[in-house]
Amino acid sequence: MITAQVILKPGREKSVVNRHPWIFSGAISRVEGSPADGDIVDVWNSRARFVARGVYNSRSQIRVRLLTWNPNDQIDENFWRRRIRRAIAGRQALLESHDTDAYRLVHAEADGLPGLIVDRYGPWLVVQFLALAVERHRQAIIDVLTDLLAPQGIYDRSDVDVRQQEGLVPVAGPVWGEIPPDVIEILENGHTFLVDVKLGHKTGFYLDQRENRLKSMKYFAGKEVLNTFAYTGAFSVYAAAAGAKRIINIDSSERALQMAERNMRRNGFGDREDIYAAADAFEILRAYHANQWKFDVVILDPPKFAYNKRQIDKAARGYKDINMLGMKLLKPGGVLISFSCSGVVSAELFQKILFGASIDAQRTVQVIERFSQGADHPVLLTCPESEYLKGLVCRVW
Ligand code: SAH
Repeated sequence: MITAQVILKPGREKSVVNRHPWIFSGAISRVEGSPADGDIVDVWNSRARFVARGVYNSRSQIRVRLLTWNPNDQIDENFWRRRIRRAIAGRQALLESHDTDAYRLVHAEADGLPGLIVDRYGPWLVVQFLALAVERHRQAIIDVLTDLLAPQGIYDRSDVDVRQQEGLVPVAGPVWGEIPPDVIEILENGHTFLVDVKLGHKTGFYLDQRENRLKSMKYFAGKEVLNTFAYTGAFSVYAAAAGAKRIINIDSSERALQMAERNMRRNGFGDREDIYAAADAFEILRAYHANQWKFDVVILDPPKFAYNKRQIDKAARGYKDINMLGMKLLKPGGVLISFSCSGVVSAELFQKILFGASIDAQRTVQVIERFSQGADHPVLLTCPESEYLKGLVCRVW
């Protein structure tokens, strides 16, 4: 029984009709039935017609997170089961893969499950409940996951600041089954990686780069590679497998680099002349430039520089700076593999930033390949915000 209605302002129903999953407070004319935060509400247009159904949260800028546009859909365990089943069905090829056992099973809004992340790491599942809409239904969701996937255990990594924007405190810990060991071993495209799902970044590993790591292999044979923002060295393992001559790993996290070294050894690349430097990437790039070091391939995979539109200008300066330095560090004909995972920085803007960097670096730069997030991180057409990762592979003369 739905006892509360959110009524939209006249002229503000278009994005809801077009199935965008968020309703901001500014689009709402009034709320009837005094719903509590986390309650299911119906959304009506200004003529009192049903348009959608979702979860109400007075503490969030996103006042309603929409779950369905079908008035017959009840939000019960069956609803979550249908959505999670659909998300799993979309990953069938990965589920059947013999050389990859870590990937994203549920990509939040893009899978019709606002704020829910489910990543698979071998027999373990790691979850994030980033919005009240799914936090409220945590138990039903966990029951469905255990039922459909029979994991060895489920670990929660909802220890993220964005929860505060939903009036939720960050939490982490085991939620079902066995507790995963401190280091899990996963397989990605035939390479082995050690992953710390309890303390690592995100849910432990940057699963969204899986396809880009594989596609990058053609650039590495016999090359001197500078892997900045290396984290646990995932790109470096692929580079070594592809025959890179020497790899220099830069990351500000000593802990991540220790894991990178372990990952290289684990894949049989322990006896190489590679370098692991815990340092600020901006400073290192500048120092290498001052020393006139040159590389064949430079990888730039920085953390998110912009979390919202107000931060775009500052982020753009950061991207321009590292990309300019990256370009300057390349030998003529070298390859720059450059990423941005800031959703608010569009692919178009990112390319413009690299254009600016090329002018400042005084280099001729050609785009030779474009990367995006892996297929297990789908982009929902009705929710453009679900697209966030873009990469440009450039030939730098
Ligand atoms: N390329 C990695 C993911 C990189 S995530 C992979 O494929 O797994 C971004 C990384 O940048 C994190 O490991 C973080 O520790 C590191 N980082 C953040 N700020 C940094 C800085 N100023 N200098 C160097 N590394 C930084």
